[in-house]
Parts: sequence; C-alpha cells; structure tokens
Amino acid sequence: MPTVPPVLDIRVVRLEEYRSMGSSPRKRSSKAGKKVRVRFRRNRSKPGRVKDWTRQARQADDHEVDADRSERVVAKGDLSRQRTIIVHDDEGESHPDLRRGTVLAMRGLYAEVDDGERVWPCTVRRLLRTRLIGEKHPVTVGDRVRFRVETGGDEATQKGVIEAVDKRRGLLRRRTGRRTQTIVANVDRAIIVSSAREPLPKPHLIDRYIVASLAGDVTPVICMNKVDLDHDGSGAAVIKRYTDLGHLTLRTSAITGEGIDSLREVLKDSASVIAGQSGVGKSSLLNVVQPGLKLRVGDIIEQTSKGRHTTSTASLIRLELGGYVVDTPGVRSFDLSIIPRNEFEAYFVEFVDRVADCKFPDCTHIHEADCAIKAALERGEIHPERYESYVHMFEEPGVGK
Ligand code: GDP
Ligand code: ZN
Repeated sequence: MPTVPPVLDIRVVRLEEYRSMGSSPRKRSSKAGKKVRVRFRRNRSKPGRVKDWTRQARQADDHEVDADRSERVVAKGDLSRQRTIIVHDDEGESHPDLRRGTVLAMRGLYAEVDDGERVWPCTVRRLLRTRLIGEKHPVTVGDRVRFRVETGGDEATQKGVIEAVDKRRGLLRRRTGRRTQTIVANVDRAIIVSSAREPLPKPHLIDRYIVASLAGDVTPVICMNKVDLDHDGSGAAVIKRYTDLGHLTLRTSAITGEGIDSLREVLKDSASVIAGQSGVGKSSLLNVVQPGLKLRVGDIIEQTSKGRHTTSTASLIRLELGGYVVDTPGVRSFDLSIIPRNEFEAYFVEFVDRVADCKFPDCTHIHEADCAIKAALERGEIHPERYESYVHMFEEPGVGK
C-alpha cells in the first residue's frame, strides 16, 4: 500500500506576519480604518460578472504578492483611475448599521454569511471586490465581514451585500496541481491529532504540522487520541514532549470520553482546523463533541492530475457549543515550501532562545562549529527526534528557496 501523504496544507502568506509572530502582539490599527490608495480597472466591455470574479480571483491567486504590491496583479493598461477608500481592519464601530458575520462557504456568486442567528446569501459590493483583488481573494471562507441586508422582500429570501472585510489573520492554503489555493482565512487553531496506537504516533509528522501552523499564524494544539490503547505509555511520552515545550496539548479518547471536555474548551468560540493522518480518530472525536457532525476532515486523497482544477472547496461548520471547525475535503499535501529554510528555527520553540549563542549568525545548526543547538542536543536538552525533524525539513528538496 502506498504511504498516505499528510493531509493538511497550511501555508504562509505574509512574511512580516510570521516574522513578528510570538515576539510582538498583533498590531492594532486605528479605529477608523486606514486610507488605502487603490487603482480601479476600467469596466469591462462585456459584463460577465460571475466569470469575471472567479477569473480575477484565480489570476490573483497565481501571483504570490503582498497587498502593498498588489499592482503587480493588474496589467498596467487596465488601470484607469485611482481613489482613496477606507479599509476597515479592526473591530471598528464605523458601520453601526451593518451586521457582522463570518463567511461559512462560497457558493458560486454568493458567500454564505453566518451572523450567529442565520445564514445569509451575500454578494460582494463591486467596489470592495475591486480593492480586494490585490489581496488575492475578494472574499474567502472564514472572512469576518460586515454586510447590509437588502430592504424589502420577505425574510426567507432576503439577501445581503458585503460592504467590508476585516483584515485577515492566517490563511490556510492548499496546493492543487501547480496552483495554490486559499481555502480558509482566520483559522485560530490547528488541532493536530495523532493516536497512541493504531496508528502509532509519528513525531516527525507532528513537528511538520506544528511548523506549518505556526508559520501560518495558527496556534497548534497537539492532541494524543486513543489514550485508552496506550498500555505501554509510549503515547504519553510523546505528548509529554510537547507539553514540556510549552505547546498546548490534549490527551483524549473518543471511546472512553477522556479529555473530551478539554477538547470542547479548545474548540469553543474559535475557528479550528482538524489535522492528522487517516485513522487517528478525527471524525470520532468530533462526533463525540457533536453527535451527528459529518466532517470531511481532509484525509480524502484526491487524484488530481496536474493542472486540473478541483471543485471541492472548504467550508466552516458552526459547532453547537460555539466556534467553527473547518471542513476541508481533499486537502492533501503538507507543503512547507513557501517558508524560507532559515525561518524553520523560529518554529522550533526550544531553538528560539538558543540560536543567538551560535558562533555564526547564519548558522543552520547542521554542520557548523560552535553551534548552540547541537551543544544543547548533546547535553540532552533538545530531543533528538525534534532535531531530526528540523534537519529533515531543512534539507528537504524544494523547501525554502
Ligand atoms: P479519522 O480517519 O482520523 O477520522 O479516524 P476515525 O474517526 O475514522 O477513526 C478511525 C478508527 O479509530 C475507528 O475505527 C474508530 O472507532 C477508532 N477510534 C477513534 N478514536 C478512538 C479512541 O479514542 N480509542 C480507540 N480505541 N479507538 C478509536
Ligand atoms: Zn547553530
């Protein structure tokens, strides 16, 4: 049987975001929003609204650009005018008449927006759409938005118009063929599930998930499931390693119910993605948390041939206890390639405080003399398997350009 590839792909979008991770609190922007200079495209001669939107999103997707360099996405000849608009990326009170909501799914032209009471089909205001193209996607699953409900008509058929999108934090991306695709924004936590037995824990895989999560500004929570089968304590030893490092950890059993309350606490009121190889108990755990919950947790391996577009999209599922879980069908590769090699050390928490003591400022901690990481490894302060994970990632072909 071929080995099953790891299933989650969390990719980093903005370098400066993960550089600042952990060291400084997230920047707060002014309450009133900030002024952004935007360039508008000339209206197209053909209307073709739906197509236009998808194509522009796709086009933007193919270019890895930062928001502040967004003009690269737009061909120069297409630019007709500039205008300053206000971008709201805070909890601002500037739109008291608008409802707040979270985008659960994209269905063609409509975004399904949950305002906590019901789900509204919403279109996106054209002005907003134009600006956000520079940020790759006008609206994505997970976006926190403000929208206006159309007046008139009866409640059941009313629609909304999204007027503002909050600044995104952390993007979950996946690779489909040669393209990468943003699947969810604003994911707070990655619940990295492994099992004490059947299958045995794979620490290197856990480490990859942790690095990808941290680099994507998503907090990893390492969950050891099937503790009821952990007769020799090997699962406990693995999870202790992460607890000792200061990571959030859980010990659970979907069978005995152990640790489920803690899992509920972690899931409550935040958006989480559940990651982990097939068979570790992801679906079982979620079914204990919320019976009847059917989640496509991403261990479906899609046989997408190169370049073919996959139609499956992620969505958010609201939990009865509060919070959302990401439903990600067919998310298959765990791709670290967008993270520069020399940034990996920042996501191994036990390395962070030691790297300053390496003799060479650009020490890779692999072959250099007077390396503080290797010295700590020899003193038994760094776990050999953690160090191995680092070396594997660092030396992986295609990683880190
Ligand atoms: P997924 O592929 O990660 O979603 O894993 P599943 O939820 O489908 O679980 C795989 C198998 O492990 C099923 O046969 C479950 O009954 C079993 N399983 C899940 N959680 C536990 C657990 O905590 N303890 C034990 N003993 N079995 C479990
Ligand atoms: Zn070093």
